[in-house]
Amino acid sequence: MQEILIAGGGIGGLAAALALARKGRRVRVLEKAAEFGEIGYGIQMGPNVAKMLDHLGVLEALEPASVFPEALVFADALTNEELTRISLGKAFLARYRYRYFVIHRRDLHGGLLDACRRRSEIVLESSRGLKSFSQNGDAVTVVCENGAEYAGAALIGADGLWSPTRQAVIGDGAPRAAGHYVYRGVVPIEQIVDRSRMNMMIIWGGPDLHLVQYRLRGGAVMNNVATIASRRFRRNEKNAGAPDELEEVFAPVHPGVRDSLRYVSRERNWVLHDREPAANWTEGRVTLLGDAAHPTLQYLAQGAQMAIEDAVVLAEKVAAAGEDCHRAFLAYQRERMNRSARVVLSSRFFGEWFHADAGARALRNELARARDPDNPWEADWLYKGIDIA
Ligand SMILES: Cc1cc2nc3c(=O)[nH]c(=O)nc-3n(C[C@H](O)[C@H](O)[C@H](O)COP(=O)(O)OP(=O)(O)OC[C@H]3O[C@@H](n4cnc5c(N)ncnc54)[C@H](O)[C@@H]3O)c2cc1C
Repeated sequence: MQEILIAGGGIGGLAAALALARKGRRVRVLEKAAEFGEIGYGIQMGPNVAKMLDHLGVLEALEPASVFPEALVFADALTNEELTRISLGKAFLARYRYRYFVIHRRDLHGGLLDACRRRSEIVLESSRGLKSFSQNGDAVTVVCENGAEYAGAALIGADGLWSPTRQAVIGDGAPRAAGHYVYRGVVPIEQIVDRSRMNMMIIWGGPDLHLVQYRLRGGAVMNNVATIASRRFRRNEKNAGAPDELEEVFAPVHPGVRDSLRYVSRERNWVLHDREPAANWTEGRVTLLGDAAHPTLQYLAQGAQMAIEDAVVLAEKVAAAGEDCHRAFLAYQRERMNRSARVVLSSRFFGEWFHADAGARALRNELARARDPDNPWEADWLYKGIDIA
């Protein structure tokens, strides 16, 4: 059988390569960057993706680098009052069968990369940005930016938010800018002044802002993420999301919370995007996966998790359909579309929830306080995950 080409060696592309190789398919990953890698910040992994990582045979190897928080805590940024939590103890494990963990992105990506390197079915090539592709009934040919050409049985576009593969398949232009800006910082744990909630993954929500903290790398460092929904962006003004707007939006926040802004770097920010859920992301022998297919805001912390779920489902459908990649891809997208759309749309809602002000904030706080920390029924659709063979 011909090899399958994957454009993009991020978390989604590597998970897809691994999942396909485990089904006996030969795979070539074409990565645009000069090296396979990830940025130096944290990422959250729910029980739904832990199940997928277990299925892919990498969960155990990731464990030493993972941190397992005691609870997911939500607090009001203006008062520092804890409003609600999801306890991550025994009841959570019994309900979802897998634990919730947080991990450094490089450790997760590195774990997948190591697993890919151990498989003889997988070829990894860097400095191979996909420029264009063409297909006929039997094969896909990819042309890279450096002129290299590859033929394969199919192409999976795992080339991220700005995916050129998506532009050829769907052609829906640039993703939607949410007007939300993210500042991050990972600092040694000794630098953290308030260590009272060290064993938690905690989110403080406030008007047009939220702040996330959790530990990484065996607890040695703290991951800090401050996000603002830019008022300048909404008013179409200059310097939307600039560091001085970060300070401005965080000004009314409880001093104990605002103090954590010292842990985020002002050198760079991330501009958040998503897309309207698409009704199709397959054309012939070409399909999309991860952020290329369904980019989402980070408010459910599920973008990479959806990419990994995609990978497992895609490999199952390819294995079931044999040479008929088109049929496999249609079956794959049928299974993934509604779940990923629910994540995209729910993430927008959770952004509003985190960033609520005035009456919406009062309602949010009342509803949050009334929750049962040991009965996270609202998360069942997500955390119970998907069925795999
Ligand atoms: C602030 C923030 C916090 C987040 N937190 C979480 C979280 O806690 N949990 C979670 O699950 N998700 C989280 N996410 C989302 C997550 O980061 C993404 O959904 C995930 O990285 C998508 O993986 P991907 O492999 O689809 O795309 P990417 O990670 O974007 O990888 C795409 C790859 O394709 C390569 N590429 C690009 N163009 C080409 C080309 N032309 N040819 C070949 N290769 C190409 C890129 O170099 C890259 O390596 C967060 C996102 C943000 C912004």
